[in-house]
Amino acid sequence: MEKIYWYPKLRQAQIRQLYRNDALGAVDEDLVEEVGFSLFQRCRSIQTVTRREVECPRCGTTFPMCEPDSWKMLSGVQSCPTPGCGWETTAEQWHASWTKRDLLGTAATQAIETYLRDYPQAKTPQERMVCIDQLIHAFHISLRTGKAGRSFGNNLIEGSHEDVVAFLDQLSATPSGVDKEEWRAEVERMYDRRRGRDGS
Ligand SMILES: [Zn+2]
Repeated sequence: MEKIYWYPKLRQAQIRQLYRNDALGAVDEDLVEEVGFSLFQRCRSIQTVTRREVECPRCGTTFPMCEPDSWKMLSGVQSCPTPGCGWETTAEQWHASWTKRDLLGTAATQAIETYLRDYPQAKTPQERMVCIDQLIHAFHISLRTGKAGRSFGNNLIEGSHEDVVAFLDQLSATPSGVDKEEWRAEVERMYDRRRGRDGS
């Protein structure tokens, strides 16, 4: 039986090179598309897990692993609904396949949906770069408080949470991308919150 597949995180070196080129005005269109497409695939994996679904590795059909609007996992063997496909799994196998791999994006659905919608429509390397820049600098926004709780880049790029935030901090700003000063201020507020200093 084919194994469940999730798209891996991106390497920091690849993104560092992309931003170096961007800062030098030396656009490498292939690299922009490679990074942009990898992020697209990673976001699709995160979206699938967050929707509590699996993608059949045999035919590509997506189907649920939990009861509707709940995290209660379906019991027993789950067969792909495509007639004649025959691939099957269990909710336990599905859960084990993504757990501890930063594939849950419940508080980042807006950033994910925006990228999955806008990236395919971006026509120039510059437009693609702006989509990439906004995505990797996004945060998990608490559904309870409406405030940033974690860096979403940590779900997309290799390294620990602090490591990824420090990495993003070093990337140069890209024209019409995120306001880097504003982003740094948000990071400060996020860390204050994580240390429990603002009472929210
Ligand atoms: Zn199938």
